[in-house]
Amino acid sequence: MLSKKVAKLLNAQITKEFYSAYLYLHFANFYVERGLNGFANWYQVQAQEERDHAMLFLQYLQNNDASVTLEAVDKPAAELKDNKDPLKAALAHEQYVTESIHAIYEAAAVAKDYRTMQFLDWFVKEQGEEEANASDLIKKMDLFGTDAKGLYMLDQELGGRTYAAPSLTL
Ligand code: MG
Repeated sequence: MLSKKVAKLLNAQITKEFYSAYLYLHFANFYVERGLNGFANWYQVQAQEERDHAMLFLQYLQNNDASVTLEAVDKPAAELKDNKDPLKAALAHEQYVTESIHAIYEAAAVAKDYRTMQFLDWFVKEQGEEEANASDLIKKMDLFGTDAKGLYMLDQELGGRTYAAPSLTL
């Protein structure tokens, strides 16, 4: 059985993952309006992945006989003006999510909840990849995004991203 504290944190993570999906859709909409459909595609795919994350936390709770409470999802907070703003906001958001997952891991370790620690291992690794991707995108934008041709090429590249279901199954 999950400890009350661990179950509560896992439940809160569902909302945070749905918020991530919402935030990335907000970014995608911003890029659609600017005609950058490749950047928009990148964040639409990202939003799908975040929904998958939310569902994994939900399923894990239910697999462990814990009840799920769906909380309100906030309006995306990021104010976007420049083409680079979503990229910076995405990195900051992923760093926040990493901290949140580490906090659950810590609570699970204190509770000697080895099953939850093992479940979270996938997310710890995933967050490392998310942060690296977000950081790479900022570097690419700084290198190539300042000139129209470079931005076009980058948009083409990001348009090639396709959705894949998460490698973690429960
Ligand atoms: Mg996520």
